[in-house]
Amino acid sequence: MPRIIISCPVTGQDVPTGHRTQDIDLSSMTEARSFRCPVCHEVHAWQGREARIEFDETTPAAHPADLTGLGAD
Ligand SMILES: [Zn+2]
Repeated sequence: MPRIIISCPVTGQDVPTGHRTQDIDLSSMTEARSFRCPVCHEVHAWQGREARIEFDETTPAAHPADLTGLGAD
């Protein structure tokens, strides 16, 4: 099952949120969720529009178009 990932606002790396697409429908997700980042160990808030799906077999969407600064400080 594909994972839901975001770009870490601290390091810029793609990090898994711990959720999978069977848990959350990104298109209907309206409220922010928080998780502890496995890369920088900070807690980040994220919303569906900031997230991407990491597919297992295919190349993940490698160019996040509009992930400039989430303002979740
Ligand atoms: Zn982080």
